Amino acid sequence: MIIVMKPNAKQESIKRIKEIIELKGLYAHISDGDQVTIIGVVGDKGKLMDQNLEIYEDVDKIVPVTESYKLANKKFHPEPTKVKVGNVTIGGDTFVIMSGPCAVESKEQLLTTAHAIKKAGAHILRGGAYKPRTSPYAFQGLEEEGLTYMKEAREETGLPIVCEVTSLDAIEVAVKYVDMLQIGARNMQNFYLLKEAGKTGLPVLLKRGLAATIDEWLNAAEYIVAEGNPNVVLCERGIRTFETATRNTLDISAVPVIKAKSHLPIIIDPSHATGVRDYVKPLARASVAVGADGLMIETHPDPSRAWSDGPQSLTFDEFEDLTYEIDPLITFMGKNL
Ligand code: PEP
Ligand code: MN
Repeated sequence: MIIVMKPNAKQESIKRIKEIIELKGLYAHISDGDQVTIIGVVGDKGKLMDQNLEIYEDVDKIVPVTESYKLANKKFHPEPTKVKVGNVTIGGDTFVIMSGPCAVESKEQLLTTAHAIKKAGAHILRGGAYKPRTSPYAFQGLEEEGLTYMKEAREETGLPIVCEVTSLDAIEVAVKYVDMLQIGARNMQNFYLLKEAGKTGLPVLLKRGLAATIDEWLNAAEYIVAEGNPNVVLCERGIRTFETATRNTLDISAVPVIKAKSHLPIIIDPSHATGVRDYVKPLARASVAVGADGLMIETHPDPSRAWSDGPQSLTFDEFEDLTYEIDPLITFMGKNL
């Protein structure tokens, strides 16, 4: 449940309510808005049954929160969360574009890509060093060597870097290099990994699971936020449906649904959603129009030779064309590239 305080409630009144909650062994989450403070209760609210909080000074009303995710819930935190990744803010005025290869293949491939995407207007460099491949015989990633190239690319271009982590060992290594951890679709409900990612304090890009409902996805985010790490960005990357013309089906409606249910920023990945290069740009346009906070787009110097996800990767020219085309749409939506 949440306790909504009256506009401009006194600090002592807020403190009193917080103390009552904590005395019952519960956690009180304070969200200070411009005028109204909301106190969210995390834990067994039955422990407050004998308290009529509504009678306390400056309390406006008590609202039950039926969803199992609390800290990721918009009711607990009505203001949108802004997540800082290096010098880039996601969820603010900038429409943030992350781009780069599916997998880091070599230093040269990565540095060439980093410079090209920066020139085209991207803000964050992505690159997989630990690849969760469907087949155990497919390329699994360069691991730490790949991370050293990512770091070098950041040093050369100034772009912050995001890399997927697939295990606790990978987290231990990645924290020494990256600005943001990525939890991939296949690990969205790997709760131990979510908790460990949360504990690092680094921003986390949480992709939607292959067949996860929005409720399951927000509960996964809750695992990270519950570790004291509110820096979570959600990424819609398509879900499994009966349709086979595309690799997955992009659930574009996830954006307004998430905006209604959560304060966390959400970006769209039309590359993994479609698996088809030609469909990436139209869905990037749709992502801007539907109100997403950014995009993740796979790019490669020569997609026909890519070690993974070549068919959905854009060439640098195609990527530049995409950013050029969505720029006026971004302005129309009140953001900047
Ligand atoms: C990726 O972004 O490299 C990736 C593997 O994506 P997903 O987890 O969405 O399949
Ligand atoms: Mn990929």
